[in-house]
Amino acid sequence: MQFRTRFAPSPTGPLHLGHAYSAMLAHDMARAAGGEFLLRIEDIDQSRARPLWETQIYDDLHWLGLSWPEPVMRQSDRLPAYRTALQGLWDRGLLYPCSCNRRDILAALTAPQEGAELPIGPDGPVYPGTCRQVPAPGTPFPDQALRLDIALAVAEIGPEPLHFLETGQHQQQVDIDPKSLIATVGDVVLARRDMGTSYHLSVVLDDAAQGITHVIRGADLFEATPLHALLQRLLGLPTPTYHHHRLIRDDAGKRLAKRDDARAIAKYRTEGATPQDIRRMVGL
Ligand code: GLU
Repeated sequence: MQFRTRFAPSPTGPLHLGHAYSAMLAHDMARAAGGEFLLRIEDIDQSRARPLWETQIYDDLHWLGLSWPEPVMRQSDRLPAYRTALQGLWDRGLLYPCSCNRRDILAALTAPQEGAELPIGPDGPVYPGTCRQVPAPGTPFPDQALRLDIALAVAEIGPEPLHFLETGQHQQQVDIDPKSLIATVGDVVLARRDMGTSYHLSVVLDDAAQGITHVIRGADLFEATPLHALLQRLLGLPTPTYHHHRLIRDDAGKRLAKRDDARAIAKYRTEGATPQDIRRMVGL
């Protein structure tokens, strides 16, 4: 099987040193394996995505010496594919509409268990199930946020463990008891009302559509991977190998965020740094 990986930035701000590390590591690993490096623009959040940032992503990555096949996949072109997958899950009774906002959820979570630690899932506190109900068979696909009924999903795939191979910082085969996901992941949102999809749904569909064999991304997404393995099983998609890499942190030890303009690649670029300097800064 040919090695194929990708870098999947969101065009919602300037790329910083952490992105440079992730992209160059993926590019280097693809080259070392005689494989392919793809780029994907994760622009489902149209309220934050800007053409300016997308253009700057191409400029920054070219400047770093990376290349990729064209055309580049953009998530905003893939809404029909996301909708088809959601419709399939809806027809299997695995989704339900949810109209809670963040405040309702936090109120429901804190009221009965004051002081107790909230279980944290891939999207923050695990949803308490406020809106959970099984829609009557034949209910048309609603124009609302949709949550995965994780208990039904787990029942549907059966007791066989889910697993993925991790080749990053902690090299291991990760085995997941599907039942454990009910408490650790909960009923995550698979379609946000304003987007018609979600990061989790799109990323598994896109990795499969692009034939990605190795997902190389930051260690902050390790905790989301059991959910991705579940979605792959539910949707009949292959599970790639995962390589979660260390995060680039600032001098205070905090991981870099989009608003860390001080460490934007474009800034180093205009100040006369070379791609070799960037490699040195991130330890490549
Ligand atoms: N768009 C995601 C990010 O910028 C990438 C996630 C992934 O590589 O799976 O964090």
